[in-house]
Amino acid sequence: MFEGLSEKLSGIFDQLTRRGALSEDDVNAAMREVRRALLEADVALDVARTFIDKAKERAIGAEVLKSIKPGQMVVKIVNDVLIETLGSDADPIDLNAAPPVAIMMVGLQGAGKTTTTAKIAKRLTERFKKRVLMASLDVKRPAAQEQLAVLGRQVNVDTLPIIAGQTPVQIARRAEEAARLQGYDVVMFDTAGRTHIDEPLMAEMAEIKAAAKPHEILLVADALTGQDAVNLAKSFDERVGVTGIVLTRVDGDGRGGAALSMRAVTGKPIKLIGLGEKMDALDDFHPQRIANRILG
Ligand code: GDP
Repeated sequence: MFEGLSEKLSGIFDQLTRRGALSEDDVNAAMREVRRALLEADVALDVARTFIDKAKERAIGAEVLKSIKPGQMVVKIVNDVLIETLGSDADPIDLNAAPPVAIMMVGLQGAGKTTTTAKIAKRLTERFKKRVLMASLDVKRPAAQEQLAVLGRQVNVDTLPIIAGQTPVQIARRAEEAARLQGYDVVMFDTAGRTHIDEPLMAEMAEIKAAAKPHEILLVADALTGQDAVNLAKSFDERVGVTGIVLTRVDGDGRGGAALSMRAVTGKPIKLIGLGEKMDALDDFHPQRIANRILG
């Protein structure tokens, strides 16, 4: 069974006599446990390493408050650095642009793009009273456009009428024009994914970006992504440019390491989290919740 990091660290420090400040040896012993916890939580290796260096620097020489044990002190420092790295505030979707504000969804196949597109559209409609138009640019999977239309009916959000045979760029242009002429506040582009990152996918995303001129580009990624998270986030960010991340399947058993990895390598905020298949299973990102999971 997984034993929480706090307990483990308390165990280490219980054997030490209490001193005024944390020594390098104490901290090194503690950081080995922190490293193990990060890796168990699926944080990417490089990210864990950088994180540990930062936490170590902060911990060595830190004054231990009289009221708490040294182990708790280290946990507090690790927690603080985690929160700082994850981003301390929920960062909502930015609609501060001339309407129709374009939002492009990108990610691998099965990450939850289509579901998340409809969830966000529902939220913008209901909570922010926006008129939203959704368009699926996925011409690879025959049922993809229909899937978005079905979800659109479910959440009472319009989808762009389907015209067979159009390219993703043609659909994007048609969606933008329809949204503009019909006075929509927001137009959302759900793009095609692939099972893995490859050049054709990135080229297609870049082409769509040029046509759709999105104000937000949201990378939808599965919270269960492990060591691949860094590569995934880096590739999309370098090639297409990401403005935020939506983490899906946070309702699953994953320990949330992907959040730390992706945030650390891109510096882009995690804007929302998906908590299930239902259309209202979408929530703001609260860094402390993910930090708790990572720390165990
Ligand atoms: P896409 O290929 O990226 O468009 O992925 P889909 O939106 O089709 O989602 C793939 C599957 O994941 C569907 O069965 C969704 O219902 C499911 N899914 C999406 N988001 C979540 C989530 O946050 N939690 C859970 N448990 N399932 C999700």
